[in-house]
Amino acid sequence: MSVIRGRLQEQDLELSCDVVIVGSGAGGSVLAAGLAERGLDVIVLEEGPYATRDDFSQVEGEAYPMLYQDRFARATADAAIAVLQGRSVGGGTTVNWTTCFRTPQRVQDFWGERFGLDLDLDPHFEAVEQRLGVAEWPEELANANNRTLLDGCRALGWEAKALRRNVRGCVNSGYCGLGCPYDAKQGMLITTLQDLLDRGGSIISDCRALSIEHSGGRASVVHGRVNDGGPRVTVRADKVVVAGGAINSPALLLASDINPNGQVGRHSFLHPVVALPARYPHDIEGWSGAPQSIGSHQHIDRGEQVGFFMEVPPLQPMLASAGLMGFGAMQRDFMKGLKRVSTLLSLMADGFHESAPGGTVSLRADGRPKLDYPISEGLVEAFRAAHVAMARVHLAAGATEAVTLHPQPLTVRSESDLAALKSAPYGALKHSIFTAHQMGGCRMTHDPSSRVVGTDHRVEGFENLYVVDGSVLPTSLGVNPSETIYALAHRAVEPVAG
Ligand SMILES: Cc1cc2nc3c(=O)[nH]c(=O)nc-3n(C[C@H](O)[C@H](O)[C@H](O)COP(=O)(O)OP(=O)(O)OC[C@H]3O[C@@H](n4cnc5c(N)ncnc54)[C@H](O)[C@@H]3O)c2cc1C
Ligand code: SF4
Repeated sequence: MSVIRGRLQEQDLELSCDVVIVGSGAGGSVLAAGLAERGLDVIVLEEGPYATRDDFSQVEGEAYPMLYQDRFARATADAAIAVLQGRSVGGGTTVNWTTCFRTPQRVQDFWGERFGLDLDLDPHFEAVEQRLGVAEWPEELANANNRTLLDGCRALGWEAKALRRNVRGCVNSGYCGLGCPYDAKQGMLITTLQDLLDRGGSIISDCRALSIEHSGGRASVVHGRVNDGGPRVTVRADKVVVAGGAINSPALLLASDINPNGQVGRHSFLHPVVALPARYPHDIEGWSGAPQSIGSHQHIDRGEQVGFFMEVPPLQPMLASAGLMGFGAMQRDFMKGLKRVSTLLSLMADGFHESAPGGTVSLRADGRPKLDYPISEGLVEAFRAAHVAMARVHLAAGATEAVTLHPQPLTVRSESDLAALKSAPYGALKHSIFTAHQMGGCRMTHDPSSRVVGTDHRVEGFENLYVVDGSVLPTSLGVNPSETIYALAHRAVEPVAG
């Protein structure tokens, strides 16, 4: 079969298959390829466009509206957290920054103790790492933006190391977030989705699944529509898999009146991110070079307090101007000096402490997802600690000044300025907060009375409905999530195939 571009479709479509999968991201694609390898007839529905290397112009104003949810304007209900989430064939993997981590053992142990999960993921990590070319990106190739994290941590005696990436033949351009025009990024678009097509499967792009028809614990039909009120798409299948990613997967279940144990949409996690830019006396050019190649987990284990890990974002001009520095003259001055700016990120490990319990997805009146994510006291404390840590890294790496993202920015020029951060306001709408890692909302746990899915990914109370994406994670991860989702989806092939 092939890719059917929904937006070119003029007539309603009625199809049937063995397995229909909603969503072509990290989870849906790995699963689709595995099921097709077992001889099953698979159709993948994807609400985003089928965009390939020829469409990846590296122009931010074109890429963001085309490849991200809500045209790059997704946010929490109170607008406190900007939500960066992919929306095209390949999902988040088409625009992600390629960092790959196995699920840390401490997280797997926590899941074992708290949720009775023993997932034995190692063989699945090995399989996906091989397929996706996951390998360490040599430290010598780190760009100056990432180098500040490495140098600063080393000067402080803190842990920091080169990260692993899913790339082959990467030319170190730095534009991963706009889609890779070199087909070097081993995202789903050119790997597992190609495997699916080679094995006879189909992808229907530009088609949003609106509801799942079901009765008596059996799902039977996915009702979709080509975006913006176009033709209807109806897919009958023996098995239905929801893989729309955290936020959208719980929303689709809720829209279909599926809510086992009243848990759908609950326990949504974001790795809430705070950033700290700093000016350096030398050129950084943070838009060039692999975007995220150094990381530090120095502060991931803070005992009773919420842990965080540090990484580095790319600094393309539109992303930098929108995300980093205010309005008017302040923004203009910041952008004039962007060439010498390096920025650090701290990502909060939510879901491990009662003081960072996550958020909730519900439905808006028009059926689209709404994400409420209160900024808890535990996060406020961690944001502050993260700012102090990032400022120390910048100073140790030779920055002349670090400047916070408060409406009235605080400037740190020496260790003696750090005290000001300790009394600065932190929390919702008090400074910029982002997320590029959405997790949870369809919790996997062993306990049938509190789960949405079990370890076989089957939705509680259903015999043929599954969730296979980042929404099943019972906590956040404290590392970038894609490889965990790839491995879970690889593991899910067997139970879904049956
Ligand atoms: C800018 C950015 C950078 C990132 N960098 C990294 C990184 O370096 N390393 C890392 O590990 N992770 C990174 N991530 C996160 C990672 O890409 C995601 O965690 C991962 O892709 C999530 O996989 P998923 O299967 O849960 O969902 P997704 O990959 O988001 O896929 C879900 C797909 O389903 C589609 N969909 C949703 N609802 C419907 C519906 N109703 N009908 C039809 N289709 C639907 C969506 O359009 C989307 O394409 C990044 C993400 C972003 C946005
Ligand atoms: S940095 Fe590498 S993977 Fe990213 S867009 Fe450039 S060539 Fe592609």
